[in-house]
Order: sequence, then structure tokens, then C-alpha cells
Amino acid sequence: MNIHQYYPVDVVNGPGTRCTLFVAGCVHQCPGCYNKSTWRLNSGVAFTPEMAQKIIDDLNDTRVRRQGLSLSGGDPLHPQNVPDILKLVQRVRRECPGKDIWVWTGYKLDELTPQQMEVVSLINVLVDGKFVQDLRDPALIWRGSSNQVIHHLR
Ligand code: SF4
Repeated sequence: MNIHQYYPVDVVNGPGTRCTLFVAGCVHQCPGCYNKSTWRLNSGVAFTPEMAQKIIDDLNDTRVRRQGLSLSGGDPLHPQNVPDILKLVQRVRRECPGKDIWVWTGYKLDELTPQQMEVVSLINVLVDGKFVQDLRDPALIWRGSSNQVIHHLR
């Protein structure tokens, strides 16, 4: 997996203070996408074991308390990202008790594959669906267009 940005302290992508990772790779090609540079899977830089460890350490850092981890992109549920995302969410579940995990994807919850659902079974919130320019509403919170749904899963 490749990534574009990692913000160790972020207050705009999900509730509370969070760690946020933007991954590379997205097939949805939504007109008006705010993050076109992330579409290519091989854009950005490699996601390394060191980066994974830094995320775990940041989530457990007691000096700046984080509510959880946000995964966006690009699409964290792009089939080629799923193996690394699954390993990361498994580690967060095991090693970061009490932290929540939010994931943004262009897929719809009811069209996910069993592999993608493995990730979803471990997260707290999935914000799903493509960005639709005609349904764009700046007043919406945590989503760009009104077709997207915030699924509180656990
Ligand atoms: S799903 Fe998100 S990243 Fe992918 S094209 Fe649509 S708006 Fe852009």
C-alpha cells in the first residue's frame, strides 16, 4: 500500500482529536473529487512497518489524547489496500484499547466483498458512497454529499 499524508494530530477528519491516514488508490473517479492526486495506487510513498508503528504509538501517546484513527484517501477499501488496512485495524484493536476507527470509502456498504467486510467488522464507523457533486452540501458533517451515509457499526 502507498500513502499520501499522515496527520498525527488532526481535528477535522472525524470526531475529537485523531490520527488520520490518507492512502493512495481509488477507482471511483467521482467528478469534483477533492483528492484526485490520490487516485493512482502507486502515487505517494510506501506504507512502511515504521509508519504503522508510529500510528500505534501516536494513538497510545498519553500527552496528546487521541479519540481514534481515521482512514481516508484515496480509498482504504481499494482491494489492493485491504490487506495492509486489515493488518493495521487488527493492530489498533489489539494494541490501542478504547480507540475508535473511522473509514471513508467510495464503495457502498452493501456491495463490499468478504475481504472488505473483514475490515468493516473491526471498525466503528464507515462513511460510504461516492462523492456526488449535485448532492454536495457544505453543511454536512463528515461527508461531502448527501448520498453518503455515516454507518455507526459498533
Ligand atoms: S471515492 Fe473519494 S477519493 Fe475516490 S474519487 Fe470519489 S471523492 Fe475522490
